Amino acid sequence: MNTPLLIDGKAAATRVLQQVREDVASLYEQAIEPTLAVILVGNDPASQVYVRNKVLRAEEVGIRSLEHRLPSDTTTEHLLQLIDHLNADRSVHGVLLQLPLPAHIDELRALQAINPDKDVDGFHSDNVGGLSQGRAVLAPCTPSGCLYLLKQACVDLRGKHAVVIGRSNIVGKPMAALLLQADCSVTVLHSRSQDPQALCRQADIVIAAVGRPRLIDAGWLKPGAVVIDVGINRIDDNGRSRLVGDVDFDSALNRVAAITPVPGGVGPMTIAFLMKNTVTAALNQSQAQRSLSEAVCPSIS
Ligand code: NAP
Repeated sequence: MNTPLLIDGKAAATRVLQQVREDVASLYEQAIEPTLAVILVGNDPASQVYVRNKVLRAEEVGIRSLEHRLPSDTTTEHLLQLIDHLNADRSVHGVLLQLPLPAHIDELRALQAINPDKDVDGFHSDNVGGLSQGRAVLAPCTPSGCLYLLKQACVDLRGKHAVVIGRSNIVGKPMAALLLQADCSVTVLHSRSQDPQALCRQADIVIAAVGRPRLIDAGWLKPGAVVIDVGINRIDDNGRSRLVGDVDFDSALNRVAAITPVPGGVGPMTIAFLMKNTVTAALNQSQAQRSLSEAVCPSIS
């Protein structure tokens, strides 16, 4: 078999962010300053790092960011008030609620409170439903990034059998919807699937989003499969802490046509697509605003 293609997420993310920079510049020419509000509740160290990275990346591409850090004992009502305030603020185009939230907060209610037009994570049920109907909506960032990477490795996705391992609302389910939209035949596996290995071995494309270090080895893979590894798992490797994916990279390498490494594969794509969604949200809102003013004051336009 030919040497497998290593799908480079860092390079792909750089390309997406370059396009975002250009889109931001053209928004500025229309006097629109794309703005992302990020809400962090509590002191979860991993969430603090994620938020910091998102804010830094936003600054790099010219997106204004507003950070709202709330204490761990914030009530659902208080959080909803802040979301209402950001929904009403026309200068804010994207609202991101960093997950997980402290256990006492009603997560679903909070996510549903975000205006779907500002829902840059794509978690509101209007966007989830729109995605399964095949409409152009704000789609979740990680699966959007995976689809972008797949398009680098597969010339044509049409008719390919894709197996998604994992059915979370954040990755697995929206990934399946995006692959269906791209005309793949899609199988979704989960912890109750019977003989997942045998099902996975039928796949032309494998998306692993399980959260189990190196679960998927060569025995799960058809020769020539394209593998996207979403998993990020920290393991102890002979006393050294390191990140590995859900795929056993070394074993898979002998089987696959293309594969994403961990780190350096899907990871950088998530923030890149968050920036892309923020610009899309800003563009959509400015167009909606223009149409509204043209309808109200046709002579001015
Ligand atoms: P999750 O909510 O825990 O979902 C895991 C899914 O895997 C569940 O649907 C579960 O099935 C399924 N599963 C568990 N064990 C299985 C097995 N042995 N065989 C088949 N399916 C199995 O996780 P997630 O949020 O989707 O994240 C998945 C991984 O991706 C994690 O490592 C996470 O850190 C990573 N991630 C990375 C990024 C990124 O930016 N690269 C973004 C998000 C997540 P049930 O539904 O039956 O329980």
